[in-house]
Amino acid sequence: MTPGLIECFRQLIALPSISSTRPDLDQGNRAVIDTLAEWFSALGFACDIQPLPGQPGKANLIATLGSGPGGLVLAGHTDTVPCDESLWRSNPFTLTEADNRLYGLGVCDMKGFFPLILEAIQDLKASQLQQPLIILATADEESSMNGARALAAEGKPKARYAVIGEPTGLQPLHMHKGIMMERLTIIGQSGHSSDPSLGRNAMEAMNDVINRILVLRSELEQRYNNPAFTIPRPTMNLGCIHGGDNPNRICGHCELEFDVRMLPGMNPEDVRREILTYASPVAKERGVTVTLEPIADSIDAFMTPVTSDLVKTCEQLTGYSATTAAFATEAPFLSGLGMETVVLGPGDIAQAHQPDEYLALDRITPTIDLLKQLIARYCL
Ligand SMILES: [Zn+2]
Repeated sequence: MTPGLIECFRQLIALPSISSTRPDLDQGNRAVIDTLAEWFSALGFACDIQPLPGQPGKANLIATLGSGPGGLVLAGHTDTVPCDESLWRSNPFTLTEADNRLYGLGVCDMKGFFPLILEAIQDLKASQLQQPLIILATADEESSMNGARALAAEGKPKARYAVIGEPTGLQPLHMHKGIMMERLTIIGQSGHSSDPSLGRNAMEAMNDVINRILVLRSELEQRYNNPAFTIPRPTMNLGCIHGGDNPNRICGHCELEFDVRMLPGMNPEDVRREILTYASPVAKERGVTVTLEPIADSIDAFMTPVTSDLVKTCEQLTGYSATTAAFATEAPFLSGLGMETVVLGPGDIAQAHQPDEYLALDRITPTIDLLKQLIARYCL
């Protein structure tokens, strides 16, 4: 037996599972994983809890019912973003029902997906399954995506199809851009400003490098275009720059931080190689060193073709055409494991990462029906 639908929501929301790149805010997700494992075990699932290497208190859960080479993964992350409690009208960790909505941190993005799955499978029996149904619950999606990275490294789980219940307002999403955040560092030679020949100015070299990478940016915009996206080209934003320390000192060190939002078809290694190809002549001309390093691990762009069975099925079941998103998800990791992947869930992205995060009650029944139909099509 599992608790009822609202009780499942209540218990998951009451277990804080904030993930953050700030160590003082970062929490584990293990309590959520253990609770989910208990519930899915009670329904006959084989539960495999995978602690994240070197990250105590953090784990993924792979819960499997049935067996076979195909099947369906229903996936979600168990962590939430941090919240500013003072801006909430209710306690973010106490499920609050009001105005035909459920309020709480993670109801929409996206611990709330799991109670809906549990409700959809209450009457499901392992003996009915021709192909496995796999529930995947991950850690750290909101910060490092280390949960999904660990799964990718392990090559798990394996299935034919995957649906990630991130907030998409029940519209199937089949593409999003990838993200890379990089730091370009130039080391020159400091010296007294009265004689430029005493040093090699890293800031002036950076000026040259910026001019060249803006040329590369224009070329990337020419080369890649996908009209399905609101911003149909890749973007590159120069976000911050730090260099030098005094007006009368030749600048010996300069750093530039920027991001690149990649369209499907681009990959971070190629972009990195091209940036260095464009920047490295400056190193030679000015006698400085130019290095490039990621500030955070990149996230690949994601695309499942609109012709795929899963995309067509999700379009048919929801009545919406598949669309694109401006945010990144764990989809490229599941897609990289060979699964046709769609992002499709009950919440709205407008309510995610906000005070008073909520899920409208009228999303609950359509989501449960949708999940039942997906399971029927891909597992029964
Ligand atoms: Zn999310």
